[in-house]
Amino acid sequence: MDRDASTPPAQKGGASSSAYLHPYACFRCRKSFKRASRANAVLTCPDCGGPSIGLTRKFKPPKRTDIKQWEKVEALVRHGFLFWSLGEPYPETLDQVTAFAQRHAGFIGRERAKRPDAYAQIEAALSDMSGTLK
Ligand SMILES: [Zn+2]
Repeated sequence: MDRDASTPPAQKGGASSSAYLHPYACFRCRKSFKRASRANAVLTCPDCGGPSIGLTRKFKPPKRTDIKQWEKVEALVRHGFLFWSLGEPYPETLDQVTAFAQRHAGFIGRERAKRPDAYAQIEAALSDMSGTLK
């Protein structure tokens, strides 16, 4: 349904023009880059060397200068949301994240149970990142 056509291609980091590129988001740099595989839950950011989190192709990276939107994305990821389709739009503001997370707590619980290794990696990456945002 969602063609994802509005997302500009990644500027660097891959010669491949595959249509099946998966975004990884670095909250330290506030940017995303794409990789052909989402086999790793967490990859090293090519810019800062910090952790970046693999998200689904529904993720639309905010502008780098839009700190509020990046904070919202980080909050969603901290709640365990990796941007799957959930039958309702994702929250537009940081304020809406808590209620959204509560509505989908059951879903997130099942995802965590299904992919404990991936979530362990993501949580380690996020704790590594905490305190680095300025
Ligand atoms: Zn980075």
